[in-house]
Amino acid sequence: MSTPSIQQSSTSSLSSHLWEGSELYRNAVMDLENAATVMDLDRNVMTRLKVPRRAVIVSVPVRMDDGSVRVFEGYRVLHNITLGPGKGGIRYHHHVNLSETAGLAMLMTFKCSLMELPLGGAKGGIRVDHTQLSRAETQALTRRYTMELMTVFGPESDVPAPDIGTDGQTMAWIMDTYSQGKGHAVHGVVTGKPVEIGGSLGRAESTGRGVVYTIEHSVKYLESKGKPHPKMDGSTTVAIHGFGKVGAVAAEELHMRGVKVVAVSDVSGGIYNPKGLDIPKIKDWIYNNRVVKGFPGAEWISNEQLLELDVDILIPAAVDDVITEKNVDRVKARMIAEGANGPTSSVAQQKLEARGVFIIPDILCNAGGVIVSYFEWVQGIQSFFWTEAEVNARLAHVMARAFKKVIGVKERYNCGMKSAALISAIENLSKAMLLRGLYP
Ligand code: NAD
Repeated sequence: MSTPSIQQSSTSSLSSHLWEGSELYRNAVMDLENAATVMDLDRNVMTRLKVPRRAVIVSVPVRMDDGSVRVFEGYRVLHNITLGPGKGGIRYHHHVNLSETAGLAMLMTFKCSLMELPLGGAKGGIRVDHTQLSRAETQALTRRYTMELMTVFGPESDVPAPDIGTDGQTMAWIMDTYSQGKGHAVHGVVTGKPVEIGGSLGRAESTGRGVVYTIEHSVKYLESKGKPHPKMDGSTTVAIHGFGKVGAVAAEELHMRGVKVVAVSDVSGGIYNPKGLDIPKIKDWIYNNRVVKGFPGAEWISNEQLLELDVDILIPAAVDDVITEKNVDRVKARMIAEGANGPTSSVAQQKLEARGVFIIPDILCNAGGVIVSYFEWVQGIQSFFWTEAEVNARLAHVMARAFKKVIGVKERYNCGMKSAALISAIENLSKAMLLRGLYP
């Protein structure tokens, strides 16, 4: 039986200009439109997917250590919950805004669908330079933000996770605040929590690990097609933009495989050594000094220079929109593994693919985090926890399945990797949307 097209969504009359303030959102919509054209997507599904389901803006007052009160702006956007509860990280960064959060929530919808997880897409954040806050101020900020969103978050409705500027400790504070409000421990309200309070083994490393799995799959795929490809050994050079939860783990995994990581960076700038960097030593350095700046035995470069290095593989793993029309002609990497969400603009991506650069798109490349977040949620519901080896094996399985599916779509439609990943995601999601129909 064929499923009827859903009726024109009421949100089609909702002007999308509300959301369009950020490059990330505009790029997400442009990528969606490109994929929709290639796959001939139902027009009404497309109309619905272009705008989020719900967005909440909250004021978050915090008493600072000096006794003054500052008010921060926080957001939580739910893009789509057709497949399950909203899932997506919480970002603390001074560039966070409603439009960027909405674009990131949209990417989460597609990522979860691509990975065939029973989860929808959401994202949240607070516009704050978290590096300037003390631990007590960060805790107060997190708890008040959670309190303001008590009716939004929930294990069956909307489940946050770490993102830029947040970590397991942040998730522990969210879980505790939410649980205090409910009167009992609610582990499933967040993922990415410490193992001691119901987190999953392997969650902290999952995104960076997954990035490297997708690089390995790409290498094998290019090899099987007789195309030029990097090798997973010391003949391959890699530059990593962003040395946080994603970038540092990807660097470590590559280093362990003998691949030469020649440059890494963070918000303070970058370091470069064409002979290869000692990644464990950099991790120790950051533990003591917080930033890569000053690391001995390497040349000091800017973040802009790092993105333009002549390397085999570039891993953007910091903020979005760093490879754009402005610098794309100077980007020399032959493969780009999008550890970050939305690092490459639509126009830049088309130019790169036209030049034969192999792009591993964000919703495929960095999906390891949400996959293990899903595992954490499942383990929590069952109160039955897996070994790290089990988690990693299941992670590898889900990522291999998604990679294969994307390659199948790429070859079927003869399109780029970005469109192929989106088409795979939307094929799955649109079937579910059409089956459920439009309420009322
Ligand atoms: P993080 O806060 O742990 O690390 C971010 C890194 O980027 C830090 O090294 C920081 O100094 C650097 N950075 C921040 N602003 C920068 C700038 N303007 N220029 C250069 N570097 C800058 O964050 P993370 O969790 O590693 O997230 C990085 C990216 O990966 C984000 O796009 C995030 O959405 C994406 N991502 C994260 C996860 C996850 O599980 N953490 C999962 C999927 C995708």
